[in-house]
Amino acid sequence: MSGPSLFHHSATTPPEISARFADIHPPLEPQAAFLEANRCLYCFDAPCASACPTHIDVPRFIKKIASGNLPGSARTILDANILGASCARACPVEVLCEGACVMHHQAAAPIQIGRLQRFAMDALHASGAGLPFKAGADAGSSVALVGGGPASLSCAAELRRRGIGAEIYDARPLPGGLNTYGVAEYKLPLAESLREIDMLAQLGVVFHYDVLVDATMLAELGRGYDAVFVGTGLGAVRRLGLQGDALDGIIDALAFIAAYKSGYILTVPSRVAVVGGGNTAIDAAIAAVRLGALDVTVLYRRGAEQMSAFSFEYEHALREGVKFRWNVQPVRIHGRERLQSVELVELASNKDGFLMPVERSEFMLDLDLLIFAIGQTAHTGLFNANYLNRVATEDGRILVNRATGQTSLPNVFAGGDCINGGREVVDAVADGKRAAIGIAAWLEGTRVHD
Ligand code: SF4
Repeated sequence: MSGPSLFHHSATTPPEISARFADIHPPLEPQAAFLEANRCLYCFDAPCASACPTHIDVPRFIKKIASGNLPGSARTILDANILGASCARACPVEVLCEGACVMHHQAAAPIQIGRLQRFAMDALHASGAGLPFKAGADAGSSVALVGGGPASLSCAAELRRRGIGAEIYDARPLPGGLNTYGVAEYKLPLAESLREIDMLAQLGVVFHYDVLVDATMLAELGRGYDAVFVGTGLGAVRRLGLQGDALDGIIDALAFIAAYKSGYILTVPSRVAVVGGGNTAIDAAIAAVRLGALDVTVLYRRGAEQMSAFSFEYEHALREGVKFRWNVQPVRIHGRERLQSVELVELASNKDGFLMPVERSEFMLDLDLLIFAIGQTAHTGLFNANYLNRVATEDGRILVNRATGQTSLPNVFAGGDCINGGREVVDAVADGKRAAIGIAAWLEGTRVHD
């Protein structure tokens, strides 16, 4: 999109960060994109499309690239996935569309669907044409969306296409949730996330920033709007639970990623360890390397095969120089005001399969920075409040009708990590879209029965 941002806040990644966080998958040149698009077999019942949670018509958008119809290609993508630009960069395509590509059965490389999708979306942005959709005719109803991440963005855009008012309330100064603050910069730069959201604002989505919606306000939103969509994601990060885990030099991975993406952290000291075995731990470890650490080790309490991180992320980390230490767990933190070292113990499974400390296996690791990525708790604060007491939850997750996103409270819908416990951006987009269709149908039904 050309012209000034529609947001009252603007943010760009500092140049020293951009320089260190070059694209993990650089954009395709036009000729390469054309050749790659022509490699596609345009399969009937394409497995790549079925593997996409938003069911983008992959062969159709690729065929349009091959025929030079880039606006048509972008429209095909956006029709299914309004966050097609960020998903092109952030999706684990290796286990989704590209993982399902029939080329695997022909001993050939899968079609580079993610990079082709990015090619079409970049072309749309570069053309300055804006979104190929307009808001629908005013339907006379409006929805409050709590949380400004991918689920709410997707839901809001789909509501606006149906003429339903959509107002997003977000606790942060910038919209986008994990897309803006949590996806590694070498996958999705902060500025790219905001550029995409700028386009959504053209549909008439209203953004309220720096508003932390508490239980009281949520009840007010429930009374003031025709429906509420809850897209609050997960709750607080789990802490190490050791004395001293708030010392200077210890930080949780999500705060670390948000801080470097926003330019609050420009470099890190030499010796860094990351506790955890998921994709966030890997992202943080690679970021530490790129921010200048000389020695970065991931500490995980189980073995490589039990890590929840994707294997391609693990291999990427190895290529970046990250080291891994298996079957270890921090047991003590040493330092006065600042972290100096961490004491670890080796773990082994007992006969019942429980991890137990190995006797006399303790050892010390001198560190300048310790990052922990051991998961997030459920977002229970809101759900325990009076208004949402009537919303059924299970293990801290909001229970919804999977076809409509509707909760047990009829005017409250939900989607994203707060219902699925933490999945991919594209899953949140699919949830938001499904909920928008569910909300529209419910509002229509309400009017019919009124
Ligand atoms: Fe093209 Fe592969 Fe999808 Fe078939 S499965 S349509 S070859 S991208």
